[in-house]
Order: sequence, then structure tokens, then C-alpha cells
Amino acid sequence: MMKIIDLRSDTITLPTEEMRRAMYEAELGDDVHREDPTVNRLEELAAEVMGKEAALLTTSGTMSNLLGVLANTRPGDEIIVGSEAHMFWYEVGGASTLGGVVIRTIPNDEDGKLDATDVEEAIRSENIHFPKSALLCLENTQNRCGGAVLTCEYTEEISGLAHRHGLQVHLDGARIFNAAVALGVPARELVAPVDTVNFCLSKGLSAPVGSLFCGTREMVERARKWRKMLGGGMRQAGVIAAAGIVAIEKMVDRLAEDHANARRLVAGLAQIPGFSVSPEKVPTNIVNFEFPPEVSDFVIKIGERGVKFLSRSGRSVRAVTNRMVGAEDIEEALGRINQLVKEAS
Ligand SMILES: *Cc1c(COP(=O)(O)O)cnc(C)c1O
Repeated sequence: MMKIIDLRSDTITLPTEEMRRAMYEAELGDDVHREDPTVNRLEELAAEVMGKEAALLTTSGTMSNLLGVLANTRPGDEIIVGSEAHMFWYEVGGASTLGGVVIRTIPNDEDGKLDATDVEEAIRSENIHFPKSALLCLENTQNRCGGAVLTCEYTEEISGLAHRHGLQVHLDGARIFNAAVALGVPARELVAPVDTVNFCLSKGLSAPVGSLFCGTREMVERARKWRKMLGGGMRQAGVIAAAGIVAIEKMVDRLAEDHANARRLVAGLAQIPGFSVSPEKVPTNIVNFEFPPEVSDFVIKIGERGVKFLSRSGRSVRAVTNRMVGAEDIEEALGRINQLVKEAS
């Protein structure tokens, strides 16, 4: 049997044995009445690691980011978002549809950053014709920019600018622990300058479900009410939270292995004729590369050989290393790619 090597996303990671045991043994209650001790424990832990007053368990990163919009704005406000942001591309336009806000995009550079001058120019002055600029949204790590990492200094600078103009700042930190591990700083330092933050348990941290929305007690209470309206009041959610606690306590440090495997993959691809890669641009677990024109339908063909990638546009492909794929699997994947390219040329 050919082993499937799945590099489509780190969301494919399955819960660990320890998570499954914790889920089975979790003490439970009705979380809508705040009576689930395991959810309460996860939320306290999340608030502590993020250095915020409070946290709220949500169904997904998409819901957490939507809560970031709903809690920080009013309908008719404008939010400023990177042109490559997950919130702009992949969240079904929820900010506009459900939050009633205008989405203003400004370009992300290759390193996932927004230019301070662009941000400043996008912030509206008081004028009867204009919507109010209410919220700046950042993303760390920046998914579409190849898992790019925003530093503490940058986050502080750009958030300070937004705050000086009266905007709130929400950080989509779906993979904030990847950034923290890559920089060797605690996550709480990276998120200190922002008002609200989302992070995902269900990506590289390997929990089956869930994200956390974190901020001041007041913000989290507003978000809690919105979460209920959205149908996200989850009753005995301790079964989910139990895995989340293991994710935060046990699964952060090992993200360094995913980063090492991403570098291993990109180094291998650089050796195969025709592949276009930027080894210097692989700070975390996401690798964007281009396959050679001779190999048409690369993603489909290599998929038939048991190596799964995600197709971007044109010849661009995304790989995300994760706990289900070890160093030896990366070598195996490179071997299969080499073979495919040889046969195609
Ligand atoms: C995955 C992801 C999300 C959304 O998380 P879901 O749980 O899939 O809704 C948000 N932002 C970024 C950057 C992501 O990669």
C-alpha cells in the first residue's frame, strides 16, 4: 500500500492519544450557563497564554475573526484588511454580510506586512460622506504570504498607528504559535499590542475542533453574546475543550519540527529541475512553490502518487507541513516528485 503524504494543510492533523483520553475523561456541564469546568479551564488558560483578560471558545477561526469584527465595530463602519488576508479571501464575506461593515483592502507585501503609510492613508478623516474607520486587521502568521511572521516590533508600530487614529486592532493569529516558535518569543508578547486576537487549536496544534477569541473582559462578553446569536453556544463543549488544553500545553514546542520539515521540503524541491522555490522565504510551516511548465496538472498527477498539495493559481502550489508528515515522509514525497518529473520530461 502506498502511504498518503498529505501536505494540503495542517488542519488535517488528527487528535493525539492524549487528547482522545482527555476528551473521554473530561468533566462536563452546560457551557451556555458557564457550567462546563473544562471549557472554563481552557478559556482561562488561553487568556493566560495570550496575556489578555479573557477568552472565549469558538467553533472555528472563521467564527473568531467574525466575532472580532462584530465586537469591535458597528454596522456601517469600515475595516482595514490586508489584500492577502484570510479574512478577506476565505471567510465568505461574513464581515460584510453579518457585520455590515465595508472592507477596505490595502496590499500585503511579500513578508505579510501592511505599509504604515498605506494604513495611514486608508484611515478616513471625519467627513459626512465617509464611513468610520473602526478596525485594523492583521494576520500572523500570514497564510497566503507563505506563513510569513510579523515581529513584535512591527505589530507594535502598526497597532500604535491605528490606536493613535482611534481604531481598534484585531489579530488573526490562527497560527500565532508558529510565529512565536519561529521567533523564539512567547505568543503573549506578539499579541500584546492588539486589542483582540483569534488563535486556532485545530491547525498545527492538532486538536480536532476549536479556536479562541481573546481580549478584554468587556470585548469577550460582547463576543459571547454574538456567538450565541450565531448558534455557537455549545453546551457540553468540554469534550472539545479537553483536547484544546492538551493542544496548548503539549503541542506548541513541536511546531519547530514542522518548520524544519518545511525547510527540508523546500531544499529538496530546489534540487529538482524546473521547480521555482524561495528557500529564504520559509519561516514557518507553509511553502509556496511553482512547478515546471513541462509537468502539466502537477497537483493532480502527484496526488495520484499519494502526495497531496493544494493548487493556488497558475503553476503555484501550497504545501503545509504538519504532525502527520515526518522527515522521512518529506524525503519520500521528494522521491515521488523527482520520479514524476523524470517521466514527464
Ligand atoms: C485556517 C485559518 C483561519 C480560519 O480557521 P477555520 O477554523 O478554518 O475557520 C483564519 N485565518 C487563517 C490565517 C487561517 O489559516
